[in-house]
Amino acid sequence: MTIKELLSNLNELAPFELQQESDNSGLLLGEPQKKVSKGLITLDVTEEVLDEAIEKKCDIIISHHPFIKDGLKKITGAGFAERVLVKAIKNDLAVISLHTNLDNIYAGVNRKMCDLIGLDDIKILDPVRGKLKKLVVFCPSDHADKVRMAIFKAGGGKIGDYDWCSYNIEGKGSFRAGEGTSPFVGKVNELHFEKEARIEVIYPSYVEKQVLDAMIKAHPYEEVAYDLYPLDNVFDRVGAGMIGNLKTPLVIEDFLSLLEKKFKTSIIRYSSASKEKISVVALCGGSGSFLLEKAISAGADAFVTADVKYHLFFDATGKIVLADIGHFESEQFAKDLIFEMVSKKISNFAFQISEINSNPVKYFRTK
Ligand SMILES: [Zn+2]
Repeated sequence: MTIKELLSNLNELAPFELQQESDNSGLLLGEPQKKVSKGLITLDVTEEVLDEAIEKKCDIIISHHPFIKDGLKKITGAGFAERVLVKAIKNDLAVISLHTNLDNIYAGVNRKMCDLIGLDDIKILDPVRGKLKKLVVFCPSDHADKVRMAIFKAGGGKIGDYDWCSYNIEGKGSFRAGEGTSPFVGKVNELHFEKEARIEVIYPSYVEKQVLDAMIKAHPYEEVAYDLYPLDNVFDRVGAGMIGNLKTPLVIEDFLSLLEKKFKTSIIRYSSASKEKISVVALCGGSGSFLLEKAISAGADAFVTADVKYHLFFDATGKIVLADIGHFESEQFAKDLIFEMVSKKISNFAFQISEINSNPVKYFRTK
């Protein structure tokens, strides 16, 4: 398959449109029309990972972290990203990154973390706004079922755990077909009234093209009348961080032990809080400090993330157990997650999980 086809499959799993503004998810290296046949899945793209890809005869790497984050002005091999880029080009390797688009979907990295520590009643901690739209389409009443179902099958009409949601009302549409048209009903140059249905459906903006294409294909009219509305609704299936409940509340020490065991951490930095037990847990894989206030206001007893700065522990103290488990540790299972998702969706492509531990942080213990 071509890189372009692979990208389109990945986009259906974790739409690239959902990445944060500062992110660089997507195709980082490679020509879209190039054919690829074997992918290596990794958390980070390092020179060691490139060697592994060469040895395993992979032609494309799918990573969680983009190895190019900011614009490169020179390629002299001085920096880490430049060295990786030069080596990847020399070895004809393509690279795709699924970063914050994978963090922000419901079945993404944070969900994996929730499952790992056994959280129930999971919700997105900071759901996005502005990613939902509404389609209103008018079609002959006897074609409404067909048009509605086409929209549903293309990804429209999902609200929470419900799908095929729509609002429908019967009315009367009017039109006059112009010269050179072939109207489905009515006659050229004559005013025509037709019994029509008004169908309203909500959809995520990233499926707009497929929804409109399917709707127009199923619609019998030459010229389809429809309206698109931007919505301010919160989209509770997409966003940063997650929050859920532990099956059994734990005292702080037992909770930290659980994190240590599940995330195989060597060290956990945390803030103390006068909580008898931890029951509600918020979390965010990678650098999630920006969600601390959200976690506190959502009533979490603990917030698990990484890359926490010293001063943030002061803000947390007394209010929430802020636990920094390490960036690599929090996202180490992202490659398993990507592997599970892509293997299920793209059956005619070979994927392998990288065996390299790419954590650049080492831990020193005196005993
Ligand atoms: Zn990360």
